[in-house]
Amino acid sequence: MALLTKAVKGTQDMLPGETGKQRFLENTLFEIAASFGFKEIRTPVFEHTELFQRGVGETTDVVQKEMYTFDDKGGRSITLRPEGTAGAVRSFLEHGLFNEALPQKLCYILNCYRYEKPQAGRWREFQQFGVEMFGSAAPSADAEVISAANEIFGFLGVENLELRLNSIGCPECRKNYHAALKEYFEGYRDRLCGTCLERLDKNPMRILDCKSPVCKEIAAGAPVILDYLCDDCKNHFEGVQKYLTAMGIEFKIDPQIVRGLDYYTRTVFEFVSTAIGSQGTVCGGGRYDGLVEELGGPKTPALGFGMGTGRLKMVMQAQGLELPEDSKCDIYIAPMDGDASYKAMALASDLRSSGIHAETDVVGRSLKAQMKYADKIGAKYTMVIGSDELAENKAKVKNMASGVSTELSFENFEDNFLRLTINEAASGLGDDSDLNISLTDLFGNIN
Ligand code: ATP
Ligand code: MG
Repeated sequence: MALLTKAVKGTQDMLPGETGKQRFLENTLFEIAASFGFKEIRTPVFEHTELFQRGVGETTDVVQKEMYTFDDKGGRSITLRPEGTAGAVRSFLEHGLFNEALPQKLCYILNCYRYEKPQAGRWREFQQFGVEMFGSAAPSADAEVISAANEIFGFLGVENLELRLNSIGCPECRKNYHAALKEYFEGYRDRLCGTCLERLDKNPMRILDCKSPVCKEIAAGAPVILDYLCDDCKNHFEGVQKYLTAMGIEFKIDPQIVRGLDYYTRTVFEFVSTAIGSQGTVCGGGRYDGLVEELGGPKTPALGFGMGTGRLKMVMQAQGLELPEDSKCDIYIAPMDGDASYKAMALASDLRSSGIHAETDVVGRSLKAQMKYADKIGAKYTMVIGSDELAENKAKVKNMASGVSTELSFENFEDNFLRLTINEAASGLGDDSDLNISLTDLFGNIN
């Protein structure tokens, strides 16, 4: 068999088994965000190109090299979102959320698109979990956003992550800094990459974020922003650190961190893992006090972070942390013949109405083949129905883990089955993963 085509370079399929874990992870992220008051927002996969040009910034790698941009049939320039913040800000403005109670706290999980060189931890379609907070300029807001990410890692049991913190000041204190940077990098004109040469005139700070080894080496000796912060920015940065310390969150000041997007001001941070190689930044974020205004809104201080869930899962994997899979089949009902299959279908249907994962034969297989299938899907209980069972209106339900069978009447079968599973779980006979397991029950199971 020759395949017509394969998945596009840099994209990935997520198969059954993995999707269950993914859903668990997504629910966990939303639940933790909700405990901080972050509410989910969903925005379109594509936006007008100018949103990202303005919102992410013309001098960034993302805009200069990585965007999936095309003209639609109506002649509009459209771009697949490379990140979540610009769309969230557009939506925040378009729907007047700035008139609601502030701070507005939003969160999302979305797929992003960047034309990058695919490698471990770097894909062309990848997923980000993100939070955004609008309407607070206070350092406590920075600390709260950082602590939300920290809480997620702590809850999932992720270790060996380093929180790196920096302040890149405000446009005011950056004026002097830009001048100093320019002077420094001018001396290396002949060695900087082509992109950085352009940046030298437009936005020299971007050079600090260049991935080219030569530029990196040059950047290591550049003046650091912390020496140029104005008093307000200095106080803000000290405030953030005090709150983090009060919450017991460890951090390391790293003046090299400037972040990939142009719109950041003051606090910027990254959570970096040493466990997954060079693509170690699992989460990056910061304050973007100028962005809302830049996109045509009222002056609104704001901040947030983006966390790559693919990289998060890589870090968890490297540490041997397993996410729980999809729930397994609770009961497989095996009819012995055509007559019994009507009853099997009806019972399975009733069970499902009670939220029980019930399956029966929909292929027309022999009993032996059905039992093999039940075993493969990991059915916790099985029940065989033939003419005797139909006549007596009851059947034996077998606990596959213990091998114990119990006769249950078809009258109110769902109740009988639920009672059986609860009793067996209580007596230690049942599978420890109960029926209809809830997220909070599972929370204890991750580590
Ligand atoms: P990097 O320096 O690794 O390119 P970035 O600064 O471009 O990251 P952001 O734009 O801040 O990344 O995105 C936030 C997070 O999204 C990153 O920390 C990372 O976890 C994830 N991410 C970014 N680009 C990719 C990608 N191409 N594939 C997978 N995850 C990504
Ligand atoms: Mg990047």
